[in-house]
Amino acid sequence: MAESSSRKRPRVLKEDDLANVEFETSEEVEVVPTFDKMGLREPLIRGIYSYGFEKPSAIQQRAIRQIIKGRDIIAQAQSGTGKTATFSIGVLQSINTQNRETQALVLSPTRELAVQIQKVILALGDYMNVQCHACIGGTNVGEDIRKLDYGQHVVSGTPGRVFDMIRRRNLRTRSIKMLVLDEADEMLTKGFKEQLYDIYRYLPPGAQVVLLSATLPHEVLEMTAKFMSDPIRVLVKRDEITLEGIKQFFVSVEREEWKFDTLCDLYDTLTITQAVLFCNTRRKVDWLAEKLREANFTVCAMHADMEQKERDEIMKQFREGQSRVLISTDVWARGLDVPQVSLVINYDLPNNRELYIHRIGRSGRYGRKGVAINFVKSDDIRILRDIEQYYSTQIDEMPMNVGELV
Ligand code: ADP
Repeated sequence: MAESSSRKRPRVLKEDDLANVEFETSEEVEVVPTFDKMGLREPLIRGIYSYGFEKPSAIQQRAIRQIIKGRDIIAQAQSGTGKTATFSIGVLQSINTQNRETQALVLSPTRELAVQIQKVILALGDYMNVQCHACIGGTNVGEDIRKLDYGQHVVSGTPGRVFDMIRRRNLRTRSIKMLVLDEADEMLTKGFKEQLYDIYRYLPPGAQVVLLSATLPHEVLEMTAKFMSDPIRVLVKRDEITLEGIKQFFVSVEREEWKFDTLCDLYDTLTITQAVLFCNTRRKVDWLAEKLREANFTVCAMHADMEQKERDEIMKQFREGQSRVLISTDVWARGLDVPQVSLVINYDLPNNRELYIHRIGRSGRYGRKGVAINFVKSDDIRILRDIEQYYSTQIDEMPMNVGELV
């Protein structure tokens, strides 16, 4: 560890900082500084303010209007800066609640994220009588069918179950006018792409497509031409993707075996607020959780080999703050929003640059401060330097006083 440095405490971003991000847009995009000026229906505005939002974030100021206008859009903004509300408000403004058919379909890569999105849509649409269903794997199919038969204006789901429901004709697609792909770069990677095209084929021609992510690599942007028409692009510059409010550090561990002791030394820091620890495999998550428990540390763990019921229970405990330290795989890397998380530890470095951004973005939500600590073996340093350079960011050796930064 480095000597305690006189480095400044991380700055908590003010809302204005969140609004002053530079974007590269494909054409002139109107910036709407308040929710009132967006031309939203009154019950929706009421829902937004009741949810506690006062001022739109940078991406909300730019993208909501475009979605409402019916434009296909590719929107990129840093993690935790309000992309979910961006498309949720767009969806809620665009649907007709008098018509019980499904009019908007939101797809995301994990069940927990699909449920989180459903909750945000229901909360923002609280005064609109909106029906929004989370259509995800690992849940009772009969219940899904019943809910869909009842009529759902919006469906937020994961591709597998959604396609299953479409094929069985329980999810009728004829009135769908908007498809939202959250974490779009992930949705367009190998694992999901086929499923996505299967679903896309069932949508009415001309359905509006909305794509969002904090990371949109070049290959993904190129791919979008196939299923979007004249999309407007609102993208943050690469050197602005990492958030200033998240301080990034590394600890040299030389060998794998040293990681565990380093982590035990850091445990008190982890529990100052809440922390997420990432490992690269499900087995390692189980192993680490077990080993920490044997050493009398309290931790919880979640990964995709667990029963959905158990996943739900862990999510609930962690969201409510009953558990403070969560160990997980990349199932937790994207989109999940637990504002109290202020520390992320990469016990293993992620397998690509995009995942790094998403993982550290679990902290520092909406301008809060955050700390990310990377455990690096000798041969990992190179990978970290590559990430640092790619995003023009700074990853320093962890100072002794790291606890004060969380
Ligand atoms: P992203 O999808 O960009 O990662 P989220 O949509 O999950 O970010 O938003 C991150 C956090 O910021 C959430 O807790 C959300 O409630 C909050 N948030 C979003 N928009 C606003 C706003 N305009 N004002 C205040 N808080 C907001």
